[in-house]
Amino acid sequence: MALLIISLFSANTIKSQHLSAYSVSKIVIDAGHGGKDPGTVGKISMEKDITLSIAKRVGDLIDQNLPGVKVIYTRTDDTFIPLDERSRIANRESADLFISIHCNAAPNKGVTGTETYVMGLHKSNENLDVAMRENAVITYEDEYHEKYEGYDPNSAESFIIFTMLQNAFLEQSLDFASIIQGDLKERAKRPDRGVRQAGFLVLWKTSMPSVLVEVGYLSNPREEVFLNSNEGQELIASSIYRAIKAYKQKVDAIVESNQKTVKPDPSKPENIENESTTMAKVNTIEFKVQIASSQTPMNSKGTQFDGINNIDTLVVNGVYKYLVGGSQSYPEALEYCKVVKQKFPDAFVVAIENGEIIPIKKALEKINSN
Ligand SMILES: [Zn+2]
Repeated sequence: MALLIISLFSANTIKSQHLSAYSVSKIVIDAGHGGKDPGTVGKISMEKDITLSIAKRVGDLIDQNLPGVKVIYTRTDDTFIPLDERSRIANRESADLFISIHCNAAPNKGVTGTETYVMGLHKSNENLDVAMRENAVITYEDEYHEKYEGYDPNSAESFIIFTMLQNAFLEQSLDFASIIQGDLKERAKRPDRGVRQAGFLVLWKTSMPSVLVEVGYLSNPREEVFLNSNEGQELIASSIYRAIKAYKQKVDAIVESNQKTVKPDPSKPENIENESTTMAKVNTIEFKVQIASSQTPMNSKGTQFDGINNIDTLVVNGVYKYLVGGSQSYPEALEYCKVVKQKFPDAFVVAIENGEIIPIKKALEKINSN
């Protein structure tokens, strides 16, 4: 269990090192569903076919117009790929960006438009519903309970715990997501349903900025026709391509300006330090919920922690502290704490910086000063 917290903080370290040399040169394009998993089924089409066609079009546009950017597909034909394998492909390739393409469905046939999701705590039941539906595909996989650490696709509670997991790339993912939504609105003229957060298994373990785009509703007959048309797919794909290009340019510009500030200038030592460390500082403080502490190690898989997965152990002055969740937002952590209190009435929020618990007040001051 102690290993967990180490990996969590090393993720932040990797990120800050990563940023100085970060560029977008490898992109994983993930066509949702495939094979025995059709995804959403419309009147005239299946989600898996539309996502594959759009994914390939996006990849082709990158190949033709962004030399130096390598495209990696999670699938290029009608094959079933488990959700964890999709993120594993991205991590194995050390990709710089991960885009999962999906189509949506809603009971109300009038609903149309696009949404781009990043991994995080859902703020509405609507977002939760989308994530639950997309995650339910793991029931096609063998032993999904073990593979996804006890995650139950049918339980909203299991969801809340899961969505509070660390997302070291939240900021960049949100940024990329909003660029995508902007391009889909401007270029493809799709109704903009916004950037949203929810717990998607496919984004869970990716170690790079990652988004999931719902490119439209197959439950809406007109939108289904659009999504099946050559023109519709081309518009969606070129919008996503433009967003990738814009995001890449933005990242390149940041890296370039960072490299400039890193050059030592003895006349302004303070400025150098401030500018070159700003990026690294942003995500080093995290809020978690402490559910228990003890003088001797407890079995974090024991009955006292019934039903809660992914407990981190932090040892502070010989005391073992058991922590769940993880958010860079204090209000979000407080919301999560309310949920945890239903099972652990004494739970409270702690702030962690570089593997150490620091006073909440100090954490908030530091965040506000950034
Ligand atoms: Zn889907």
